[in-house]
Amino acid sequence: MECPKCSAALIIKYYKGMLEVDYCPSCRGMWLDYAELDRLEDLAFDEDNFKGSLIHRETEVPSKCPVCSAHMLEFQYRLYDLKLDTCPAKHGFWLDAGEDERVLQIMRTQRGRITRKTQAESDWKQLLSGLHSFIHKS
Ligand SMILES: [Zn+2]
Ligand SMILES: [Zn+2]
Repeated sequence: MECPKCSAALIIKYYKGMLEVDYCPSCRGMWLDYAELDRLEDLAFDEDNFKGSLIHRETEVPSKCPVCSAHMLEFQYRLYDLKLDTCPAKHGFWLDAGEDERVLQIMRTQRGRITRKTQAESDWKQLLSGLHSFIHKS
């Protein structure tokens, strides 16, 4: 497969020893199969229900899917300030150099937010039940 950005030949690389990705040795971008983006995110945050919806504001770009050569769609990733490319036929995702770290950073932020929210809710429930038993005792 060829790199959609610089046309160099992609090589297989073991990403963090967890995922097999197609990596561009020239521009250091990587191609992830469609399911692999989720697996990459799971390295930082694996609660799929709390990740939010993935694709927003797609626009067609000149770079082509390395699998089927269709023009890829650039989209806003989970409403964050990050743009990734995907194949319209769902072959996968293209991440430029460093964008994988951005994905992991965003997922860690999301995990922190959900953990704090869940903690706050359980504190509130404890407070309410404490209050409840207090009222009923008196
Ligand atoms: Zn490249
Ligand atoms: Zn494709």
